[in-house]
Amino acid sequence: MIIQKFGGTSVGSAERMKQVAGLIASGQQPCIVVLSAMSGTTNSLVEIADYYSAKNNEAALEKIDVLHKLYRIVGESLYLKKDYKVKGHDLLESHFDYLRSFAMDMFTANEVKCVLAQGELLSTAMFQFYLEEQGINSCLLPALNFMRIDRDGEPDSYYIKENLARELSAHPEIKLFITQGFVCRNVFGDIDNLKRGGSDYSASLIGAAVVATEVRIWTDIDGFHDNDPRIVEKTHTIPELSFEEAAELAYFGAKILHPATIQPAKAAHIPVVVLNTMDPKAAGTRISEHTSGKTIKAVAAKDGITVIRIKSGRMLLAYGFLSKIFEMFDIYKTPIDMITTSEISVSLTIDDTSNLVKLTDELKHYGSVEVETGQVIVCVVGEGIVDQNEAILRVLNALKEIPIRMVSYGSNQNNISILIPSEFKKQALNSLSEKLFPG
Ligand code: ADP
Ligand code: ASP
Ligand code: MG
Repeated sequence: MIIQKFGGTSVGSAERMKQVAGLIASGQQPCIVVLSAMSGTTNSLVEIADYYSAKNNEAALEKIDVLHKLYRIVGESLYLKKDYKVKGHDLLESHFDYLRSFAMDMFTANEVKCVLAQGELLSTAMFQFYLEEQGINSCLLPALNFMRIDRDGEPDSYYIKENLARELSAHPEIKLFITQGFVCRNVFGDIDNLKRGGSDYSASLIGAAVVATEVRIWTDIDGFHDNDPRIVEKTHTIPELSFEEAAELAYFGAKILHPATIQPAKAAHIPVVVLNTMDPKAAGTRISEHTSGKTIKAVAAKDGITVIRIKSGRMLLAYGFLSKIFEMFDIYKTPIDMITTSEISVSLTIDDTSNLVKLTDELKHYGSVEVETGQVIVCVVGEGIVDQNEAILRVLNALKEIPIRMVSYGSNQNNISILIPSEFKKQALNSLSEKLFPG
């Protein structure tokens, strides 16, 4: 079994959906296809949910009308036969009527999730109708029947494996399955999601559940690049990455993969290949256990970072101080990205500020607390990077014009992380590319 995930741009129009159908229909192996919502849809659904939440039903309905029109155009050119045009039309009517129904109903956090799920529910149903019209034998697997997160918001691997196996075994004659990325149910059975960009994560979770031979992530660029192509003009495809390298890059901001995508694939030893739908013959990037030499591979940047500095004379020569501080982050469920310490102070960075006020109030019991927002973590990745003194010299040399706030070096073999103020991000990424990846 292989898993093939197609992102928003890859299914972003009738033409693109037809191209995806061509790509998957030519394959010989049994396959689960994971689709995102059409590009722009989830953003629109977020806006609609925001309008409903603000009780601005008029604006929500207007936005729904605009989106509905766009989908009607796609539906019109996707299907050839009259009966499929009608089926497609009815499908859109039912989903858009559902979206409109919230204007007359309560709108809670659960309803937000129901609205956001419509993008993937639509794209997969439209695509399945197209395959049917083309006479391609396939089956739609509802992700809401097997994809689930637990009490802590983490995927429930056992549940996913068992329920996906049951769904698949109901169709022994089928080799091609279509399912939704992103959407899932939570521990209460309500509709939920794997967070923005979560279809990549769905694909690797499904891959791990069925012990796939490969997870293919089809997107709008020819694989993982050595820097962020939205910010740096000259970037290059990286042919191979180790699981560790790719996981660091995804975690530290490389938008091409949802931050958690690599974990399930790595645990199940399943290679992940990142490919370009617009150029399917291009080799892309292969992510696997294989390591391809000790060089600096790539740079990524994670935005929206906040630094918390705690200073206390009590820290001097004392033990137990840090554990008390960490306990607060644990209680307020706030993950720490970077940390540095001196005799009397500790600096930590976080990106989830939802409990910041409560957290800092507690931390004030241990010393004076300073908070600085608007920072970026720039992360330079390459297998064994910390074994090469020359690598850190090159990185720091590339950043010599930039005010560096913190450096994390040596906590693992593959990564140097540097905290800088956000306004220097563009300059830092460009300078790193010029110095580290010339050519
Ligand atoms: P999809 O809709 O297929 O999931 P995304 O927009 O989520 O696609 O991810 C692909 C985009 O990620 C690319 O178009 C590119 O702009 C951006 N990106 C950011 N960093 C990188 C990188 N290091 N390599 C490749 N693409 C990157
Ligand atoms: N449609 C979702 C989003 O835009 C999930 C995804 O595309 O991966 O975030
Ligand atoms: Mg994505």
